[in-house]
Amino acid sequence: MARSLSTAILPRVPNTEDDLNTDLRVRFAPSPTGSLHVGGARTALFNWLAARHAGGKFILRLEDTDRERSTPESEAEILRVMQWLGLDWDEGPFRQSERDDIYRDAIDRLKDAGAVYAAWESAEELDAMRAEARANKQAPVVRGRRDWSDDEIAAMKAEGRTPVWRFAVPLPGETVIEDMIRGTVTFDHAQIEDFVVARSDGTPTYNLAAAVDDLEMGINRVIRGEDHISNTPKQMLVMRALGGTPPQYAHVPLILGTDKKRLSKRHGAASVEELEADGFLPQPVRNALVLLGWSYDDKTTTFTMDELIEKFDVRRVSKSPAVFDMKKLEVMSGRYLRALDPDQFADELVQYLDATGYLADRGPDAADIARRSAPLVQRKMSRLTEYDRLAGWLYRPLEFEDEAWEFLANDIKHAIQAIGGGLGRLEVLDDFSMEPIKEALSDQLHVQGLSAREFLEPQRIAITGQSISTGIYESLEMLGKDAAVARYRQTLAKLAEGWTGGDA
Ligand code: GLU
Repeated sequence: MARSLSTAILPRVPNTEDDLNTDLRVRFAPSPTGSLHVGGARTALFNWLAARHAGGKFILRLEDTDRERSTPESEAEILRVMQWLGLDWDEGPFRQSERDDIYRDAIDRLKDAGAVYAAWESAEELDAMRAEARANKQAPVVRGRRDWSDDEIAAMKAEGRTPVWRFAVPLPGETVIEDMIRGTVTFDHAQIEDFVVARSDGTPTYNLAAAVDDLEMGINRVIRGEDHISNTPKQMLVMRALGGTPPQYAHVPLILGTDKKRLSKRHGAASVEELEADGFLPQPVRNALVLLGWSYDDKTTTFTMDELIEKFDVRRVSKSPAVFDMKKLEVMSGRYLRALDPDQFADELVQYLDATGYLADRGPDAADIARRSAPLVQRKMSRLTEYDRLAGWLYRPLEFEDEAWEFLANDIKHAIQAIGGGLGRLEVLDDFSMEPIKEALSDQLHVQGLSAREFLEPQRIAITGQSISTGIYESLEMLGKDAAVARYRQTLAKLAEGWTGGDA
């Protein structure tokens, strides 16, 4: 009896100091500028698991300060995909675009504290500054001039110039991250430029807004991609200048394709939306996502959601880049589908075929056919998109795919003998169910002295018109005797048209 993966409840064995750390507050902070990529989805999942494992809170924050690239469609899509993955949030979604007052207030506090300064340099002056640093073999970091005279400032204002506000990175100095995955990472302040916190129109930059939000939302652990690690010391500096304490950080490794290049569309689906369209269900997708850097031991590769919540520990995430392998996802997906309880599989299948519009296009009986076909396809698929290839024939009158017809037409005499032999046995069966059908056809195969392929392939084509399909015996049973016999006769008639001589 297949076990239902999602209902396995395990005893809760405390395994880390995070257990029942109900104060834990983590967040997922996507920028709504596109669909949710595999990397973003993994970040969301890791944060969600950390929160659920500890009994803490998972906060959703949309970093939509890039007004040109952020869209409501992308936001809606990210929320939809998170729900599809089963990642519910406890607070939010907060939108940075609605929190401008909070950032302006923080910028004022930084000004009052003398932690930031007005920087008047033009783009050309900044380029020249960086070029000079490079020429002197120094890091091309920007340090704005801070000794402008009142007259100079008045002149620049008269020209219509407005300053940006830069953070005065304390020199000399260093900022140390005690990263939960990467260990101690030290940043020498000499390498960190006086980064901009407020643009000339007063709007906050990403580093300012993210730091303020993490403080203000009480985030005490930030799990995010390693590509953000150079932002971390800047955000820590801002938090400290505001009198706050930075959270714990865990920077998760990059995701590569199987060719060891950074994951992109070239590797097949790079977004969760595409994986969904490719016929994968959320459970195997989650399973594949969690294994992008995390492992429980060196052998377990399949986890239920309950097991993940129970076992997840961000400190077990590896530092090395993770590889996203579609083939592995396919294997996990096939394994997941096969292990589902048959009724649950049927529900998933019908729901999927309904959601994708497949059923709507196939007449009033389509949902019923889909449900009855579920046991015929459950063991044959690794993703739901394969359904039509196997079972599409059930929804249409007999018609032959070119390849399948050629197989028969190649040796018409043989095809007529095999199909005629099969028909002779099936026509006289009283009990048209799987076992008697199988017995009758196996017996006929021996009588005609043919191999399984020589005998059974024509039977398959005679009823399905396809060279790949659901299993022959199950398909016959599902068709029922009358429909099956009619299809056999139709095939024989068509073969007879092409028959030019000799006794069949
Ligand atoms: N909005 C950032 C991104 O989508 C996330 C920054 C963060 O997690 O702090 O990459």
